Amino acid sequence: MLKIYILTLFPEFFESPFNVSIIKRAIDNGLIQIELINIRDFSRDKHKKVDDYPYGGGCGMVMKPEPIFEAVEYVEKKIDGQNRRIILLSPQGQVFNTQLARNLSNEKNLIFICGHYEGIDERVKTLITDEISIGDFILTGGEIPALAIIDAVARFVPGVLGSSQSPEEESFYNGLLEYPQYTRPQVYRGLKVPDVLLSGNHKEIELFRRKEALKRTREKRPDLFEKLKLTDLDKNLLE
Ligand code: SAM
Repeated sequence: MLKIYILTLFPEFFESPFNVSIIKRAIDNGLIQIELINIRDFSRDKHKKVDDYPYGGGCGMVMKPEPIFEAVEYVEKKIDGQNRRIILLSPQGQVFNTQLARNLSNEKNLIFICGHYEGIDERVKTLITDEISIGDFILTGGEIPALAIIDAVARFVPGVLGSSQSPEEESFYNGLLEYPQYTRPQVYRGLKVPDVLLSGNHKEIELFRRKEALKRTREKRPDLFEKLKLTDLDKNLLE
């Protein structure tokens, strides 16, 4: 079981997303466990203050170190030396991708620290194992990044996806965008499903999908395409 601890000022943010669909089923089936920890509960200030003005001046407020340190220590005590990653959500971190999702899914415990306001006191970084960004843009808090990462990681936890689904077949896993998908009806508003998909010829279908995946990766994501090691068959398909 993968245990996930989310340190946040807004635990209520996560209520609905964890209560639907695949993540809910994974929790109900005991494949993942999620504990929401309110950083404010660890404030020793009589007004439960968790932020303060930045030293040196500047706009906005910065999250204070003490409640975050104590919240992390609380979790560390619970997990009692088991392996874990302590992840700070931050626009300055390593950009998240499918390899990292897979890598995180092999851990026993993941601890997420969600920043807010202008960010967190720099000293919190002495606690962490990873600093992760979900892209080159600024969100108001770390809750949405944590949610996106947890969703992507959970898909790699064995049993979370139904037996008919596999993360290995989806975009990015093998460096390619996924081939086009179709379902019923065969013709919709004059738009036809490619004949090969109706042929029942599995070899032909596999070649068609490989070709389409290669073509659309070259077209839409030349950065990914450049990194591919094309086989002779791939080169033939593209010609
Ligand atoms: N002042 C910070 C900076 O310029 O680097 C941005 C702070 S942001 C408004 C508040 C919090 O949202 C951050 O501490 C982080 O936890 C989260 N956050 C915002 N954008 C993010 C991103 N792209 N990836 C991961 N976390 C992000």
